[in-house]
Amino acid sequence: MNGEQPSLAKGAPGAAPPELLQPLRAFFPRDAELLAKLGLHTVADLLFYFPKRYEDFTQLRRVEELQEGRDAVVCGVIREADHRRTRRGKHVSTVVVEADGGLVRCVWFHQPFRRTQLVRGRRVAIQGKPRRKGVTWEFVHPRVVMLDETTSPTQKHLLPIYGLTAGLEASTLRNRIRWVVERYAREVPEMLPESFRQEKRLLGVQEAVHRMHLPASREEAREARRRFAYQELWMLQLAMGLKRAQRQEQARAPVLPVDARIDARIRRRFAFELTEDQRKAVEEIAADMARPVPMARLLQGDVGSGKTVVAQYAMLLAVAHGYKAALMAPTEVLARQHARTLFRSLRGSRVRTGLLVGSLTPAQRQRVRDELARGEIDLLIGTQALVHEKICWDRLGLVVIDEQHRFGVMQRAHLRHGEQEPHYLVMTATPIPRTVALALYGDLDVSVLRERPPGRQPVKTYWVRPDQEGKWWAFVRRKLHEGRQAMVVASRVEGDPEREVAGVEELAKRLGRGVLSGFRLGMLHGRLPPAEKDRIMVDFASGRIDVLVATSVIEVGIDVPNAVVMTIEGAEHFGLAQLHQMRGRVGRGAFPGFVGLFAQPSTEEAIQRLETFVATEDGFEIAEADFRLRGAGELLGTRQHGATPLRVADLRKDAELLQEAREDALVILKEDPHLASPKWQAVRERIVRRYGELLELAEVG
Ligand code: ADP
Ligand code: MG
Repeated sequence: MNGEQPSLAKGAPGAAPPELLQPLRAFFPRDAELLAKLGLHTVADLLFYFPKRYEDFTQLRRVEELQEGRDAVVCGVIREADHRRTRRGKHVSTVVVEADGGLVRCVWFHQPFRRTQLVRGRRVAIQGKPRRKGVTWEFVHPRVVMLDETTSPTQKHLLPIYGLTAGLEASTLRNRIRWVVERYAREVPEMLPESFRQEKRLLGVQEAVHRMHLPASREEAREARRRFAYQELWMLQLAMGLKRAQRQEQARAPVLPVDARIDARIRRRFAFELTEDQRKAVEEIAADMARPVPMARLLQGDVGSGKTVVAQYAMLLAVAHGYKAALMAPTEVLARQHARTLFRSLRGSRVRTGLLVGSLTPAQRQRVRDELARGEIDLLIGTQALVHEKICWDRLGLVVIDEQHRFGVMQRAHLRHGEQEPHYLVMTATPIPRTVALALYGDLDVSVLRERPPGRQPVKTYWVRPDQEGKWWAFVRRKLHEGRQAMVVASRVEGDPEREVAGVEELAKRLGRGVLSGFRLGMLHGRLPPAEKDRIMVDFASGRIDVLVATSVIEVGIDVPNAVVMTIEGAEHFGLAQLHQMRGRVGRGAFPGFVGLFAQPSTEEAIQRLETFVATEDGFEIAEADFRLRGAGELLGTRQHGATPLRVADLRKDAELLQEAREDALVILKEDPHLASPKWQAVRERIVRRYGELLELAEVG
């Protein structure tokens, strides 16, 4: 809820009453600069800068009301503070607080930072379970909230806690907000029609704003939060519905139907029968591509479920009609691998392919461009470089985007050109939890590959404890002697590519001299020149390298069926989705796969992550767990793109609310696809202002 807040001040003039657009500078000249750092410029900004959470003072007690072992909050001033080290080096802080009705004692061990925090004269709130100690009450390791004169609670209520910036006191911000809320909350215009609010039992916006900041109880805060969480989810659903309607009416895409002859010609290119799920996906895609409306389809499928083949089908369908197709991959290694797979399966056909990646020399790049311009390339494969290229996309029929979550939602649809738009197929190997898919991809149709292609082998996962490492390496050697290949992943060192590379190099050296001596080791990391990376991948794929020691660059897409054992060092540093991606690299051929995790997790979350990973091989379960542990932003990689449009709603908690909001939105759009009626005018304006750019919504419908 903190960070950038919805700003009523931006966009169409006249939307917010002038009172709300007054600059904060006019009221708080001394704090204006600090407030600006939080993105708070106007009265409206402050009104919608919601608390991250609340301190609960509903258990506020006077000293004579305290009860042995009963959770309570007392407030007061620190009268004595003693911080010392015992002779054995143990840090002890003892503080006496003069609270309402008497003195209480508080004790903390091993928390040296208390020395600067708890000093005489400061006002604090203490929360914990008091114990009788002689004539006084004692709190051992209570929670502390720092207070000041004006915000110290004198009543049982919830204290809002806001996101801060350096130099801005919590109490200052709280006071400023309270001041503004008390004067201006009643000026906030309501955009929801009265009848709709009543039907949905949603608080009015003015009351909701007031209660978000100054709730009298948990219940009040919950009600206020529900109003805004619902509103966010509902507006996003409406926005995506508008987008869908707009796309269907305005955009024109080439009509590329499939018939028996084309179908047979495409399938001849595959060395195997399509699975039932693949067949169904192909059917759905072909139906989309047969319509003059751009397809916008998400192809979800676990690692190894065979998405590439489906994409290949779609691309060849475009080519069969004399159109071009492009495939975008998230990394160069993966783009090159896709290119190899396609080249191989198209050998002897008339389909012409091209590769466009960042590392091409200017001359090579120019050659590809010229070929494109002359219409000599049917299938273009590349990385994000494709997006930045000014290429002549004549007769572009289809764009396939692989591993969507890495691009972030923002980059969707950036390849548009001219009057016609291509069809879009977006593939994701990180199955997206249903709630996230609905909330953030609601404008896309979805095909799912659940079933695995026949012959896929199970993968066993072990958490290798330190005393079992010898045994594990003996197992790896045995597999290598049997003629199989192995991968070893060195953990990344957070945000430090230099050290990551050093980590891989050191690990490769250590293994080569030690437990894997006598085998041919290759090394792969992001800092190698692309040509070198490609050479190593080819060497590994063709068996000239026995063991590939790599960073997590191997995480995505690499397909070497003879590689059956993977060792992941420092597994605690990886997220669940990432581990799952890596695991998908083994068990791809005729042999079962094995994954050994070396890990020293130091947090509860890391332990849980590893245990979940060992326990299940199902990508959908993994995605749900990852989502519960880390939230949607990271899962989708949207955090760095700043595109997560939810600030109050939390998809982990609000699944039901989302479902409700979605259904409501669908009903409304069915009656009024453009939200053109006066009833929804304010809502429509707000949606265009907030999501117009993100979803490329037109200003007027
Ligand atoms: P994904 O991209 O979904 O991770 P791929 O498309 O790379 O999966 O497919 C994984 C492996 O399964 C590839 O080696 C591919 O050739 C093989 N494969 C795909 N579909 C089938 C099928 N219907 N029958 C047998 N093998 C298949
Ligand atoms: Mg793939």
